Amino acid sequence: MASSAMASDGLPRITVLGSLNMDLVSYVSHHPEPGETMTSNGFAVSPGGKGANQAIACAKLSRTRAPAAAGGQAPLSTTAATAHVSMVGAVGDDAHGTALRSNLAAHGVDVSGVQVVQAGGVPSGVAVIVVDEPTGQNRIIFSPGANYQIDDKAGTQSLVPAGTQLLILQLEIPLEQVLRALREARAAGIPVLLNPAPAPATEEARSQLEAAFAVTVGHLGKGQGLSHLVLNETETAALVPALTVADLDTEAGLARAAAYFLALGVENVVMTLGGRGVYYASAASASGAGQLLPPEKVARVVDTTGAGDTFAGQYALEAVYATAAGKAFDCAAAVRKSNRAAAKTVQRKGAQDSIPWRDEVE
Ligand code: ATP
Repeated sequence: MASSAMASDGLPRITVLGSLNMDLVSYVSHHPEPGETMTSNGFAVSPGGKGANQAIACAKLSRTRAPAAAGGQAPLSTTAATAHVSMVGAVGDDAHGTALRSNLAAHGVDVSGVQVVQAGGVPSGVAVIVVDEPTGQNRIIFSPGANYQIDDKAGTQSLVPAGTQLLILQLEIPLEQVLRALREARAAGIPVLLNPAPAPATEEARSQLEAAFAVTVGHLGKGQGLSHLVLNETETAALVPALTVADLDTEAGLARAAAYFLALGVENVVMTLGGRGVYYASAASASGAGQLLPPEKVARVVDTTGAGDTFAGQYALEAVYATAAGKAFDCAAAVRKSNRAAAKTVQRKGAQDSIPWRDEVE
C-alpha cells in the first residue's frame, strides 16, 4: 500500500507508472505506398516508451553528470542525485526487456517494480517508427505487448510503491490501472502528475479520466484533486468537449481549456504548445488567470522528440522538491525551468539521449 514516508537519505521519491518500449526507427526518403517495399536510409534501435522516457528525464535532470561518466567510463547511477526515481511497469522475457531494464538501471532508476512477464511469450512493448526525412514527420505503430500485462493481482495489489512522494502517470498502459493508481495515490495524499498521452481515443475513456480528476467533496479537500495535468494541444483538444486544436491558437481558447480543467478540480494545468511555448494556470493563483510563456530561443531545432517528456520530468522534479521541503509549489517557476530543459532537448537528435543533465539546465 502506498505511503508518503521519506527515503532514509532524505531525498524525495518519484514513481513513474507507465510504459517501456523499444523504439525501432527507420529513416526514409518518403513514406511507403501500399504494397511498396523500400530501402531505408538508416535504422536505429533505442529505448523508449512514455513512462520510461519520463523516468529517464527525472533521473538525468536530477543528476550532474560526472566527468568520467561523460566519457562512458563510469556507471551513470554512481553520480550524485537530488531525487530517487522508481519505474513500475512490465516488459517481456526477451532481449528488449533486458535492455530496457538495464538502461533504466544504468541511469540510476530503481527497476524493482518493473515486472518481467513470463506467460505465453508476451513480447516487450515495441514502437515501429518511420521518419520521413524531408519533412521530419513520423508514423508510429505502438504494439503494447507486456505493457498491457502489468500484474496487479486483479486490482488487489498496489502499483504505487511505499515512500512515493509524487506519482507520474501516462496512458500507454491499461486505463483501469491508471485510474486505480490515481485514486489510490489521491486517497493517500500523494500528489499525481498526469500526462494523458496518447490522448484517449473513445468518449468512454475520456469521461472515465475526467471523473478521476475531480475533488471528492467531503473526503478529500482542496489540493487533493489531480495535482498536475501536463498535456499537449492534441491531448487538450481530445479532453475538452467541443474544443479543437485550432481553438488553441488563441489565448481565449487556451484560457477556456484551462478553466475547464480547473473547474474539474485539477490544481495546476500546464499545456505545452511545441514551438509556441507553454500555457499554464493554477487554482492557487490569486487572479486565477492563465499565463502564456514563450519558448526559449534556440539556435536550431534539430528533433523535437522527447521534448514533452523532458518538460514533464523537470516539472515533476520541481513539484517533488517543493513537497519534500514542505513549501508551496511555485507553478510559474517550475514551468519556466521545464521550458528551459525542453528547449535543450529540441536541439539534439533522439529521445532519451537528447534529454539534458541537471547541470545543463541550471
Ligand atoms: P513529444 O511527444 O515530441 O515529446 P509533446 O507534443 O508532448 O512532444 P510539445 O508541446 O511539442 O510536447 O513540446 C514540449 C515543450 O518543449 C514545449 O512546451 C517547449 O517548452 C519545448 N519546445 C518544443 N518545441 C520547441 C521549439 N521549437 N523551441 C523551443 N522550445 C520548444
